[in-house]
Amino acid sequence: MRVVADVAETIATLRREVCALHAELTRYGLVVWTAGNVSARVPGHELLLIKPSGVAYDELTPENMVLCDLDGRVVEGDHAPSSDTEAQAYVYRKMPQVGGVVHTHSTYATAWAARGEPVPCVLTMGADEFGGEIPVGPFAIIGDDSIGRGIVETLVQSRSSAVLMKNHGVFAIGPTAKAAVKAAVMCEDVARTVHMARQLGTPEPIEQQSIDSLYDRYQNVYGQR
Ligand SMILES: [Zn+2]
Repeated sequence: MRVVADVAETIATLRREVCALHAELTRYGLVVWTAGNVSARVPGHELLLIKPSGVAYDELTPENMVLCDLDGRVVEGDHAPSSDTEAQAYVYRKMPQVGGVVHTHSTYATAWAARGEPVPCVLTMGADEFGGEIPVGPFAIIGDDSIGRGIVETLVQSRSSAVLMKNHGVFAIGPTAKAAVKAAVMCEDVARTVHMARQLGTPEPIEQQSIDSLYDRYQNVYGQR
């Protein structure tokens, strides 16, 4: 497959964007060493851009982001793509509204994943961003569709933009790669604060009606018009 000229510019812009978003993962302390990654769908095309496998964060460049098809096969790039490419490609195939996927092993969220416990919705920021608890997905081994399937099966039953894959870590989605990064940052923040609250006592639940109205306001009204 060859990349035609009209999409080349879109891909070049997206390469810069996806590369730059990786710096947010290190800025917020969500990743160590080469773990974690950001990917983006190339809008209107059966393609995605993702971090190269095993390359350090400070060695990432727009050029070494790897262009793959939605089966995870490399279309353009000198590096092997992230080992999570197959899982993320599965998400893009099954969830057409998703434009970006982020994966981290961020500490607090992954500690909830290790226990297999969803993060309860006891903070307004949890209601705003996730519309309820942050759910737990099944334990799955890397190497086939099972991680992707677990992510999709969990997220379609929830309003959440993040899932804690059991004994593993966070997969966050969004309409854009930037939105997915934000979901990953918020997931860690919510997981950390709820953990702290648990150490101090029993967090108070928020009524479903209030969760619904917080979620609706944040998703549809909040921010600059
Ligand atoms: Zn992982």
